[in-house]
Amino acid sequence: MGLKFGPYELSWLGHASFLLKNDKVIYIDPYEVTSGPKADVMLITHNHFDHCSPKDISRLLKSSTKVVAPRSCREKVPKVEFLEVRPGDKIKLDDIGIEAVPAYNVKRERLKFHPRRSGYVGYILELPDGTRLYHAGDTDLIPEMKDLRVDIALVPVSGTYVMNAFEAAEAVGLIRPKVAVPMHYGSIVGSKTDAEKFRELVRSCEVKILEKE
Ligand code: ZN
Ligand code: ZN
Repeated sequence: MGLKFGPYELSWLGHASFLLKNDKVIYIDPYEVTSGPKADVMLITHNHFDHCSPKDISRLLKSSTKVVAPRSCREKVPKVEFLEVRPGDKIKLDDIGIEAVPAYNVKRERLKFHPRRSGYVGYILELPDGTRLYHAGDTDLIPEMKDLRVDIALVPVSGTYVMNAFEAAEAVGLIRPKVAVPMHYGSIVGSKTDAEKFRELVRSCEVKILEKE
């Protein structure tokens, strides 16, 4: 079961992969997606294989699909309308606002995975009804999080390459969404236990653990 809000339905497709549906079909970091509607928009956070997957992207493309991603993904997704973003960029696609926000590691043992200089991103989608949906990307708790204004936050909890459940719970305290959804577990790294630990630790908002669809 996905998360329903207003006219939208958000489905978790496993790992950091999501599908947002209403009149538009938006995928974020599609990975190992075997079926589903073709994308109007695809948001890719960075060029790691489990986030920027050429096979999944081409499976979900149609001729009018727009792919929003940092420059490092460009060579992996040829032959599409490619909108390059850097942290801090804001673009508008029809009635949807898209803000690329920083995503990087600060923990010494993880610095090599997502260094700040790589320009990897998370996204805030501002939907026509005003809801602001944040996909954090692969990140640690970073100071920029306290200035984000979001309603729903999708945050990594697996540890190893990104925040663990404890750090993610602390991050959510800083981000202050209405709803937080744990992600980045269940396939490559992390398990549902991490998601449950995260839910136990978060006090400031509702936590929804989504079933993989
Ligand atoms: Zn990564
Ligand atoms: Zn990752």
